[in-house]
Amino acid sequence: MREIVLEARAVTRTYGTGTGATHALRGVDVEIEQGRFTAIIGASGCGKSTLLQALGGLDAPTSGKVLLEGQDLYALPDAALARLRRTRLGFVFQAFHLLPEYTVRDNILLPLLLDKREPDEEYLALLTRQLGLTALLQRQPTQLSGGQQQRAALARILVGKPRILMLDEPFSALDSYLREEVEGEVGSLLANFVGTALLVTHNRDEAYRLCKEMIVLNEGQVLRAGTTKAVFADPQSIAAARLTGCKNILPCTPLDSHTVRLDGWDTTCLLYTSPSPRDCS
Ligand code: ADP
Ligand code: MG
Repeated sequence: MREIVLEARAVTRTYGTGTGATHALRGVDVEIEQGRFTAIIGASGCGKSTLLQALGGLDAPTSGKVLLEGQDLYALPDAALARLRRTRLGFVFQAFHLLPEYTVRDNILLPLLLDKREPDEEYLALLTRQLGLTALLQRQPTQLSGGQQQRAALARILVGKPRILMLDEPFSALDSYLREEVEGEVGSLLANFVGTALLVTHNRDEAYRLCKEMIVLNEGQVLRAGTTKAVFADPQSIAAARLTGCKNILPCTPLDSHTVRLDGWDTTCLLYTSPSPRDCS
C-alpha cells in the first residue's frame, strides 16, 4: 500500500507584489511516498527549489498546505517547526556550508550538538568509512577537496538519521570529473539509505539512475508525476518529453485514440502502445 509521508496541497508561492511579482508555484499538488526516492525535474527557474523549500518547512507557501505525516507544517509555531526540520529532515544544498573554524568531525556532529543529542559513535564510524572521510576527521574544511567537502556535508546530514533527505542539485557545483566520482559514491550511499529522499535536479540521467518516482515541473506547475519509468516511457506532453531527453519530436494531428497523422509527411501512423499525445499540433 502507498504510504504518503509528505504532501503539498494546492501550494502557490509568489515572490514580490504587483507587476513585478513572480508566480514561482501555481497550485502544486504532490504526494511523496514513504521509503521511495523521488526526483523533481524541470528547467531552470521552473520552481524546483521553491517547491523543495516549501516541502521542507523552510519557506511558507503564499497559499495552500504542506503536510508532513499529516501535520500541517506551517501551522506549527516557529520553534516546533525548526526542531522538526532539524530532527526529521536532512537538507543537502548546492553550497556545502561547512564552518571553516571547526574540524570535519565537529562539522559533522554539529546538528546533534545543537539538539544536545549524543552522537552514535558506531554509526558515525560506519558513515565516515562509507564516505571515505575516516582519515580526514581532524582536518579543517579548507583542507578538503570539493568532493570531500560535499561528502562531509552529506555525513553531517545523515548522522542525525533524518526520515526524509532533501537534495537540491547536490552535484551541480562540482566540475564534471569530480561530479562523476561524487555522484557514484553518493548514489551508492543513497541506495543504502533506508528512508525517503527528494532529489531536485535538472539532470535527467541522475533522476533516472537514482529515483523510482518523478515529478516534472514546468513554470510552477506539475506537468507529470509517476514512476520514473512511466514518465520516461510516456511523458504525455512536449515539455515533459524534452525534459526527459526525447530529441525526435514531430508535429502531428491525432485522428483517434491510437492513430496520428504526421503533418508534412502525408503519412498516417498507427500507435500500438501509447495513446495519441495530447498536446501535439
Ligand atoms: P529552480 O530551482 O527550478 O531553478 P526557483 O524555485 O529557484 O527555480 O525559482 C522559481 C522562480 O522564482 C524563478 O523565476 C526565480 O527567479 C524566482 N525566485 C526564486 N527565489 C526568489 C526570491 N527569493 N525572490 C524573488 N524571486 C525568486
Ligand atoms: Mg534551484
